[in-house]
Amino acid sequence: MMNIVPNSEHKAIGELARGLAGQDLRKNWARWEETHEFPVETLKKLASHGLMGVNVSKEFGGLEAGVVAYSNAVQAIAWGDPAIAVTMCVNNMVAEVLQEFGDERQKAFIPKLLSGQTPAGSFCLSEAGSGSDAAGMQANARRTDSGYVLNGSKAWITSGEFAGAYLVWAQVENGGKSSISVFFVEEGTPGVSFGAPEEKMGQHASNTVVVNFDDVEVPADALVMDVGQGFKVAMMALDGGRIGIASQALGICDALLEEAGRIGWAASSYWSGRVEAARALVWRAAKLKEEKAPFTYEASVAKLYASECASALGDTILAEAGIEAALNSNFLQKLVRDARVTRIYEGTSEVQKIVIARELGRRLG
Ligand SMILES: Cc1cc2nc3c(=O)[nH]c(=O)nc-3n(C[C@H](O)[C@H](O)[C@H](O)COP(=O)(O)OP(=O)(O)OC[C@H]3O[C@@H](n4cnc5c(N)ncnc54)[C@H](O)[C@@H]3O)c2cc1C
Repeated sequence: MMNIVPNSEHKAIGELARGLAGQDLRKNWARWEETHEFPVETLKKLASHGLMGVNVSKEFGGLEAGVVAYSNAVQAIAWGDPAIAVTMCVNNMVAEVLQEFGDERQKAFIPKLLSGQTPAGSFCLSEAGSGSDAAGMQANARRTDSGYVLNGSKAWITSGEFAGAYLVWAQVENGGKSSISVFFVEEGTPGVSFGAPEEKMGQHASNTVVVNFDDVEVPADALVMDVGQGFKVAMMALDGGRIGIASQALGICDALLEEAGRIGWAASSYWSGRVEAARALVWRAAKLKEEKAPFTYEASVAKLYASECASALGDTILAEAGIEAALNSNFLQKLVRDARVTRIYEGTSEVQKIVIARELGRRLG
């Protein structure tokens, strides 16, 4: 029987993150909501405590504390402000991809992503016409004598305008799904430009932009793994990413219950039970990933359950707690807005159901 209960180190990292969230995020969320500011100094502070690379080796400046600790840290940061949690999640994901699949030059960039030297990393998979159907991407990499030339536009890219490094997925020589590859592109590379920041309904302190790649020349060693390995890398990264977003949704649930309590709405055992069930599912997926066991199914179940729970809980509180919950000055209304996108990124709820059905089919033979 797998023990999914966090140990003292996992708990300590969650408590450290909760402390930072209480000191900084809870004091600033209202201003960030208003100004849509990307809080670079706060992200540096998280980095200085290791939170931008919780499951990354100490060799690269990470905490090397594992996936359960990572989940606890994301839950705590999302409790403080879910917008900061998504920036943290994507940075951790980019660093983990480089650690797992990068060559020496690419890995050498990880300390910059973890130390706060660059505010964040970006994961450039989605396009305007290919979100759920990632394999339908149009971005292309043309071979040259010295490397590749990238062309294409990536949509909805978290931290895009501020990223120190981009993982960019593209077909090679328009070769279709089997040619999809991933490239490591550093900030400042000529030909990389951005659209205006998206005016989102929630998570205003996260930056979301179109990132354009116009004749971007990269060396041959910008390729991560081999040509044609990109789709597999993306799917593996998204499995891990789903644990992050499920943890973010859980942090939202914790904050919702607490804030609703402040205005006199007492959670029923039904809601407390749903939130704790979500936490158990998230820890189970995290533990499996930590043990290097298959976790695709468990990560999708956790992400689906936790994100749907956050939205449904928010709706219920708005319906039952009285008008105060909906006032702009109240953190509750922000949490309700912020919850919605946890059902979209890292795969929508409908996509999670497809993954779950496929994985169940495999297990049942
Ligand atoms: C705030 C934000 C940040 C994001 N950050 C990033 C990022 O950093 N990097 C990145 O690469 N992407 C990012 N994304 C993109 C995100 O991953 C996509 O929005 C998501 O995968 C859905 O794709 P789509 O928006 O194109 O919707 P579509 O794929 O067009 O889906 C539209 C609707 O159809 C449903 N649907 C689609 N296919 C099926 C199917 N086969 N069966 C049943 N229903 C289906 C979907 O569930 C959805 O409800 C971000 C998105 C948002 C909103």
